[in-house]
Amino acid sequence: RPWNFSAGPSALPLEVLQQAAAEMTDWRGCGMSVMEMSHRGKQFTQIRDEAVADLRELLAIPDDFDVLFMQGGATAQNAIVPMNLIGRAGLGKADYVLSGIWSNKSHKEAQRYGDIAIAGSSGTDTVINGVSQAPWTWYPSAQDWHVRSDAAYLHLCSNETIGGLELSELPDMAALGAARVPLVVDASSHFLSRPIDFSKAAMVYAGAQKNAGPAGVTVVIVRKDLIGHALPICPSAFDYANVAAAGSMFNTPPTYAIYMAGLVFKWLKRQGGVAAIEAANIAKAQALYGFLDASSFYVSPVHAASRSRMNVPFFLHDESLNAEFLAQAEKAGLMQLKGHKSVGGMRASIYNAVPLEAVQELISYLQDFERRHG
Ligand code: PLP
Repeated sequence: RPWNFSAGPSALPLEVLQQAAAEMTDWRGCGMSVMEMSHRGKQFTQIRDEAVADLRELLAIPDDFDVLFMQGGATAQNAIVPMNLIGRAGLGKADYVLSGIWSNKSHKEAQRYGDIAIAGSSGTDTVINGVSQAPWTWYPSAQDWHVRSDAAYLHLCSNETIGGLELSELPDMAALGAARVPLVVDASSHFLSRPIDFSKAAMVYAGAQKNAGPAGVTVVIVRKDLIGHALPICPSAFDYANVAAAGSMFNTPPTYAIYMAGLVFKWLKRQGGVAAIEAANIAKAQALYGFLDASSFYVSPVHAASRSRMNVPFFLHDESLNAEFLAQAEKAGLMQLKGHKSVGGMRASIYNAVPLEAVQELISYLQDFERRHG
């Protein structure tokens, strides 16, 4: 199979796909596909329970958090989060950090539900250590954020898939003068690629289709005290209290996507868990950024301290070569390298299921293309 550098839906571990294929028509001798099972039957209940237990183990999720499997993607959470959290204690206000396209979408949607303020933003040019950075190519430093101490929550996106920015450490809300403000994190595009500090995050959500499985299931990990405060307008199926009380089965859950995510969790455990996959991700990112930085043919636009380990945008200095670069890459079995239309250039997404070998082949191709055109 060619290497798939898609930003999402993206590569899944081959082992997982093969296991799903082997079990497709007969799951463990029960004579049915997982797709055909009742979600309330004992087989699927076991699949759901194992997925939750494995995820709890992988991320060391504390007992005072619930794990929910929902639908609607991270985009629906842009509305579901404020509908569930903003009314807590009648606060009615929430603050957002803007670091790129996804956090801007979250911020825009939230404005329908209350008094929303911008806590910090990288939407301007700036100079960092003498180097000028364009808007959305640097992660705004927590030291510069202004968080209202009576905000119902602070929202941020910890990995901007399109811009290729990653927040390397979650902020300490007490240090921001907002110790009582829960931190809500959209971790969609680096979920399970590194540990999550649940002493800092009160809620984390992620669409599965990058690191955790197929599209169709959204993982929501939410501290229990934040549940049960939904606005009256919140649809029942999106009220965390209903979803939690029903073990993610308030209505029919995306059973097959949950099953596939469960297989990915087991695969991750076999790799040695999140610490081992994080080490592999660091090695992959270092190899690729190291190559890009050493080359004058390619350029990586993101400030070094804000670079994502998962999504690596880069440009060819001579952009007239873009079409040829992409066509030859595909011939070499390196797929989906075209950058997002809003950024242009190229983007290599190197999620958990993309091995170091794929990154090395990409680097060889980059070298070869440079040698032929540089
Ligand atoms: N947030 C981030 C960081 C994303 O990368 C994406 C999708 O790529 C979304 C939100 C939206 O996810 P969905 O399309 O599942 O609604």
